[in-house]
Amino acid sequence: MAPERARPKSTAAPKVGFVSLGCPKALVDSERILTQLRAEGYAVSATYKDADLVVVNTCGFIDAAVTESLDAIGEALAENGKVIVTGCLGAKGNIVRETHPRVLAVTGPHATDEVMAAVHQHLPQSHDPHIDLIPPQGIKLTPRHYAYLKIAEGCNHRCTFCIIPSMRGDLVSRPVGDVMQEAENLVKAGVRELLVISQDTSAYGVDIKYRTGFWNGRPLKTRMTELAVALGSLGGSAPLWVRLHYVYPYPHVDEVIPLMADGKILPYLDVPFQHASPRILKAMKRPANSENNLGRIQRWRQICPELTVRSTFIVGFPGETDAEFEQLLDFLEEAQLDRVGCFTYSPVDGAKANELAEQVPAALKEERKARFMETQQRISTARLKQKVGQTLTVLVDTYTTKGAIGRSTADAPEIDGVVHIKPSRSLKAGEFARVKITASDTHDLRGVVA
Ligand code: SF4
Repeated sequence: MAPERARPKSTAAPKVGFVSLGCPKALVDSERILTQLRAEGYAVSATYKDADLVVVNTCGFIDAAVTESLDAIGEALAENGKVIVTGCLGAKGNIVRETHPRVLAVTGPHATDEVMAAVHQHLPQSHDPHIDLIPPQGIKLTPRHYAYLKIAEGCNHRCTFCIIPSMRGDLVSRPVGDVMQEAENLVKAGVRELLVISQDTSAYGVDIKYRTGFWNGRPLKTRMTELAVALGSLGGSAPLWVRLHYVYPYPHVDEVIPLMADGKILPYLDVPFQHASPRILKAMKRPANSENNLGRIQRWRQICPELTVRSTFIVGFPGETDAEFEQLLDFLEEAQLDRVGCFTYSPVDGAKANELAEQVPAALKEERKARFMETQQRISTARLKQKVGQTLTVLVDTYTTKGAIGRSTADAPEIDGVVHIKPSRSLKAGEFARVKITASDTHDLRGVVA
């Protein structure tokens, strides 16, 4: 056997600074690149000054994100000088190079190999596997107790307001065995909540005809329902929350509702409906645009009354009439959704919807958004009030002597509300607590440890 090599302590590893912008899918890309950097012996620097080179993972979805990303690249260039750009903005033509010609390399999203090739070129490093160890769960940018689990890249749809498919390509599902292995490693490392993400989680496996893969020697179909069952089984004796994001209301989504009713996965569905008018949904080319969404939500709630439905909507889509906007408000009133986000239509460069006539004036878009939010805030306040007096299971995110902040099954991190817990005993981040709800407001709950 070859003798173990020892690298002198004085040989400092080259340091890479990292700026991560954008959505949870971009965050997972960042985690993959950081994991690979650490696996190859690079150190990660918290400051521009200490870094030998900086990687900026960008977002290019809406104009505000493009500006934020270009500013971040400019700052990294000014503070450090050696910058590699990756992410969605990198896939948007030449905008990065035209604005910042000094960047060393530009790649699109989910391009770990290309980013690493650029790092190798501009900051070569000799790897010593005996000392450059990384944990099996990889490097995570989220707190220790929850993690995003990306199950696919890209998207087969062509929604007219979206340019993600042109940046990330068609749907490519990750092998189910790989996804399960990653999930298992995360759970072993202390993760108590898995947030399943992709562009279209309900389409998982479509590209490979729901191929049967293997996990722990057992056959497992590459399909959302089967994956949800398998993920739900990972917790063992300790509770594990599995939360599904970006699910479209296809008929087969009905299959996961009984799993929620049985407590196998969280009773939570993030379904981006985007609108309620059939004409607008068609103009948007939304997946499952002909489904009867109201009927579907009602059936889901009959099977699983504790189900939380989160959604996002766009107001002011080109051609949206007053009547169609009213139809959207009527839908909100009837659907009584729990968590809702609203955006005014933003003409993203390259999106097909920009070619549609009748753009809605900016002031009218804002007015509709305000009316939409007013309606939903009233609904949300009333729905949260119904929880006062109940005792809920809460996953603690942070604890200080002033109290803890956690989330119930109805609250995804960053996008939903929280539960403020009075400090009756010390709680740890990542701990589950039973909390008696004593008060509510528009978005959040308050309570005491039961
Ligand atoms: S489903 Fe539509 S909005 Fe979502 S990524 Fe695909 S094209 Fe974009």
